[in-house]
Amino acid sequence: MSAPVDLVFAAPRRGKPPRHLADLSSDERREALVALGEPAYRARQLSTHYFGRYLDDTAEMTDLPQASRDRIGDGLFPPLLTPVRTLTADGGATVKTVWRLFDGALVESVLMRYPGRVTMCVSSQAGCGMACPFCATGQAGLTRNLSAAEIVGQVVAGSRLLASGEVAGGPGRISNVVFMGMGEPLANYRTVISAVRRLTDPVPDGLGMSQRGVTVSTVGLVPRIRQLTEEGLSVTLALSLHAPDDELRDELVPVNTRWKVAEVLDAAWAYAEQTKRRVSIEYALIRDINDQAWRADLLGEKLAGHLVHVNLIPLNPTPGSKWTASRPEDEREFVRRLEAHGVPVTVRDTRGQEIDGACGQLAAKEA
Ligand code: SAH
Repeated sequence: MSAPVDLVFAAPRRGKPPRHLADLSSDERREALVALGEPAYRARQLSTHYFGRYLDDTAEMTDLPQASRDRIGDGLFPPLLTPVRTLTADGGATVKTVWRLFDGALVESVLMRYPGRVTMCVSSQAGCGMACPFCATGQAGLTRNLSAAEIVGQVVAGSRLLASGEVAGGPGRISNVVFMGMGEPLANYRTVISAVRRLTDPVPDGLGMSQRGVTVSTVGLVPRIRQLTEEGLSVTLALSLHAPDDELRDELVPVNTRWKVAEVLDAAWAYAEQTKRRVSIEYALIRDINDQAWRADLLGEKLAGHLVHVNLIPLNPTPGSKWTASRPEDEREFVRRLEAHGVPVTVRDTRGQEIDGACGQLAAKEA
């Protein structure tokens, strides 16, 4: 059955991004090169350029015959991420980039350098369908899933910048990747898994990062958490809980109306059990909404005795939001009560707040 012609043309272009080397496994890269009329061994050559040296312009790949450069460039290195805006903060140790994708969609990534580690925060979707009311990305809805190469490309761009020595602190390497930019990574499951493989496969197949350095953050899509548990990866799971009780969580994380606190925590414990990895519980502290002492106690009771760490995030208010961050004394009391339950807890620093560091705010402004 085919749709009426006028409907087809009226529909917005929601095409797939063009294929890129980083979408492909090493076997697929060899096949793609043969299909382009090139020898299969070029797959390794190109992979070394891209994953080992962060090159994506075939003009700079001087070991390629002149005649092959355009063909390979067109076939495997289409431009996927065009920087629209770059902002730095924290004395140049935080770099935030807004990217325009091939179809005009905007996404963000943030590079954050700390003593001894560099974390890259990446987007997995343009927009997000999860509709959390305190999150800037959640307000606009989902535009589309990113491709694996669009995700990996954010990390490669960060790696290139860091290797060039342009980030404060001198040349360096990315040690951690967190899927805490725009989007719900587990709603783009297959692609995110393939991106994780590209990030963690040894050079030249991938970027050679440690799986333990990768954190996948989720609102709590229980079937996908269970699938991730079976995946055989040792990435860190972060669960955006934000409330210990269903009544409030139904409001703050609307997907809770489908999978309740008890269910999502069960899935998180199964993940911890399988991987022996500490699950990170994300909790944005919102003044007088979820920061009461009794909620800290309830959270402590539900988490005590598990392989867990709580990451408290002072709310970064979105424009027009009625909510704001907790008072310092309430934050301190929240921490104290969790500790009294024996639950490890840290308060996340607020890197890049002056450059709209939180979740989709910059892209929202740009759009
Ligand atoms: N969709 C995934 C990953 C993206 S958001 C998830 O929800 O986990 C990464 C983290 O930032 C989540 O814990 C999210 O709840 C939190 N966050 C979103 N908006 C925020 C804001 N305005 N202030 C503080 N944290 C926020």
